[in-house]
Amino acid sequence: AAAESRFATNNPLSRAQHELAISSLPGGNTRTLLHTPPFPLTIARGEETYLYDLDGHKYLDLAGDLSAGLFSHTPPPPVLTALTTALATVGLSLGGTTLAEQRHASLLCARFGLDRVRFANTGTEANLYAVAAARRFTGKRKVVVFAGGYHGGVLSFPGREAAAGNVDRGEYVVVEGYNDLEKAREVMARVAEEGDLAGVLVEGLQGAGGVIPGREGFLKGLRSAARKAGAVFILDEVMTSRLAPGGLGQEMGLEPDLVTLGKYLGGGFAFGAFGGREEVMAVYDPRREGALGHSGTFNNNTMAMHAGRAALEEVYTPEVCVEFNARGDRLRERLAQAGKGTRMSFTGRGSLIGVHCTEDGTEEMLSGGDVAGKERRDLNDLFWFEMLEDGFWIARRGYMALILQTTDGEVDRFVDAVAKFLDRHRGIF
Ligand code: PLP
Repeated sequence: AAAESRFATNNPLSRAQHELAISSLPGGNTRTLLHTPPFPLTIARGEETYLYDLDGHKYLDLAGDLSAGLFSHTPPPPVLTALTTALATVGLSLGGTTLAEQRHASLLCARFGLDRVRFANTGTEANLYAVAAARRFTGKRKVVVFAGGYHGGVLSFPGREAAAGNVDRGEYVVVEGYNDLEKAREVMARVAEEGDLAGVLVEGLQGAGGVIPGREGFLKGLRSAARKAGAVFILDEVMTSRLAPGGLGQEMGLEPDLVTLGKYLGGGFAFGAFGGREEVMAVYDPRREGALGHSGTFNNNTMAMHAGRAALEEVYTPEVCVEFNARGDRLRERLAQAGKGTRMSFTGRGSLIGVHCTEDGTEEMLSGGDVAGKERRDLNDLFWFEMLEDGFWIARRGYMALILQTTDGEVDRFVDAVAKFLDRHRGIF
């Protein structure tokens, strides 16, 4: 309560801005996740790896726009060049088939091992279109998903917040237990027996659910169970494609039928894509009688196509990707060391890190459901408020996604701040 009260006192302009915003935005909000009581900080601007709020505070951004902001708030030179060249020589939305869409598509196919790919504007859309493809391809309706899974604003199956009311649950069957292969197999077999299993949609690491890595045996088991049932295995790589040069699916040898992509692959612009096996993607081939429609005004918009291509080809090369995620692993190890013997623990993989505060600090977190059941939100909140005071921006739920340009010195400062925080609050941690 003291930390929250200091927060309110220290941010009068953000508070006033929030009061203004609620008269045109419900709750002053247009991205649910960014609502942080008592009011959100209004971010005035970002530069490189830093954010600046309305009251003039400066934060080292360790949340990286929930993984979409991989390239920092300042476009790296190759992305800036691609953008300015496209603006000067190509023009904005052209309303026609373009060179840039083919170029970005062939790059994504090669990098992520896809036969075919199509673009959308968000990861949410990419998942909705992938699910529609699975349904059309199999002629079945139901898709198995996991509690704690997040596949978009209208495709969220919370393990911790109240269930989102905007998903038609009849179409989705939720398994209570990410990383629980037996349970998943049971549910898939039951739905298959009813003759209605179209696919399984899963993250290789539950991101929004708490940054919980999927175990290889679990994910491979899902793939086998899907194959056996003639269902489409959809791997949601919207958040995880950054973790390895060909995405987590290739790294783990998961051989998904369909993959969904998003976030940083638009080079900082709104982006989504879905792709995979040719015969499944063929349901969208407009040369075919009765093909599914997939028309989005901005699917091939100039900025995302050019920025995304430059970002992947010239900035986030396979070598950079490997080195960057190794840095993330080292950071997680150092944080774990700092948290040893306290109520704070860390999960994740590579450049994605989850911070958890639990009663005994050593419980294994295997699913978003575990996170929901075991987490001490009061301690998480205290950490969040005090990290803000120290100038570090992480997501309140305890989520971190490294930015490529963050330096070792900046990371050192954060590790030091965490250690000092735990020391300061030894009594309660
Ligand atoms: N899938 C996963 C795994 C995500 O993490 C997200 C976004 O956080 C989405 C899908 C939705 O992407 P978007 O926010 O672009 O709709």
